[in-house]
Amino acid sequence: MDIEADPLVRRMRPFGTTIFAEMSALAVRTGAVNLGQGFPDTDGPPEMLASAAEALMSGQNQYPPGPGIPALRAAVAAHQRRFWGLDYDPEREVLITAGATEAIAAAILGLAEPGDEVVCFEPYYDSYAASIALAGAVRRPVTLRPSAGGRYVFDPAELRAAFGPRTRLVLLNSPHNPTGKVFDRAELTMIAELCQEYDAYAVTDEVYEHLVFTDASSGHLPLAGLPGMRGRTLRISSAGKTFSCTGWKIGWASGPAALVTATMRVKQFLTYVNGAPLQPAVAVALGLPDDYYTGFRDGLQARRDQLTAGLADAGFDVLPSEGTYFVTADITGLGGRDGVEFCRTLPQRCGVVAVPTQVFYDDAGAGRRLVRFAFCKRPEVLADAVARLRAGGTHRG
Ligand code: PMP
Ligand code: GLN
Repeated sequence: MDIEADPLVRRMRPFGTTIFAEMSALAVRTGAVNLGQGFPDTDGPPEMLASAAEALMSGQNQYPPGPGIPALRAAVAAHQRRFWGLDYDPEREVLITAGATEAIAAAILGLAEPGDEVVCFEPYYDSYAASIALAGAVRRPVTLRPSAGGRYVFDPAELRAAFGPRTRLVLLNSPHNPTGKVFDRAELTMIAELCQEYDAYAVTDEVYEHLVFTDASSGHLPLAGLPGMRGRTLRISSAGKTFSCTGWKIGWASGPAALVTATMRVKQFLTYVNGAPLQPAVAVALGLPDDYYTGFRDGLQARRDQLTAGLADAGFDVLPSEGTYFVTADITGLGGRDGVEFCRTLPQRCGVVAVPTQVFYDDAGAGRRLVRFAFCKRPEVLADAVARLRAGGTHRG
């Protein structure tokens, strides 16, 4: 055996260090303001934190039940009924996971055979491609491109062409990271009809379900709520974004018992369980009154507006963000030709870190000049970043 050779299995070799880890390390090394990786710089609701501390100090520190503690499964089901009118049986149709990331991986590994095809929209969240590759499945990306008004759209013919006899599932993220796009009813209807025509499952990543801004062209619509979709959709979300606790990694999957069970069969051998004292705390958070959720959204919307205006002022061509933690911008007007190059040198030039979105495309050309900024930061941090960008001569990327 040649120990010099790369021991990594072939199917994982195309995947290096995640761009988020690379860019956060760059921020630490250079002392730059980190608007790369999407994590808030303030804590979530105090009731949730107090509940976690209490659970930790009162002995809830051993393995929770495999599917998650009953109180959290009940809270997840109640939350989906309350906000989206979706009914799931907490006993059979809800599974608690180690973040949305594990739910997505376990669902793909549990549902897709080698050679099966997974339709997804690019740019896609980076774990999607890796999870599809781990399953030996094949991704069939459909490209989102900025339209004349700036909203990211897909070509319906391209979507139809991505479906075929080997399509096993469609993996849909709305609100969408990194574009900030919120899929509207017409777009979701096209996806739903194709799923039914090709008898495919849908796995939906809805971690930004509570971050759709008031000026978005559509509110959040779970695909599972569209006609014919509840029975074939596994709906995934997590606490990280909604409750500003991205380090806790408490997520969940809901859907028909057969899909939840298939996901569970894989999940039990990945982590088995996680976060015993955090699970009751997330149950508390899910039950917070409506004004928590609207206040959270309004706070992020104000910061989106602040960063959007600041980036435009610094010379970026900013694309509208309807939801999530993120806004994208085109660097062409600043003389930038390549987002990766632009982002690798931005910390030295301006003291700010952003993420190049081309790394989330198979068709790198489609995203070459687009970069993503996170606005889930305190207003003074955003103001500092904008001042640095204005002072630093962004236009040498
Ligand atoms: N999906 C998307 C679109 C995300 O942006 C993120 C996280 N940042 C995740 C999944 C992962 O969620 P979690 O941290 O709950 O695993
Ligand atoms: N979801 C976060 C983002 O998109 C980062 C998650 C991660 O680092 N894996 O920035």
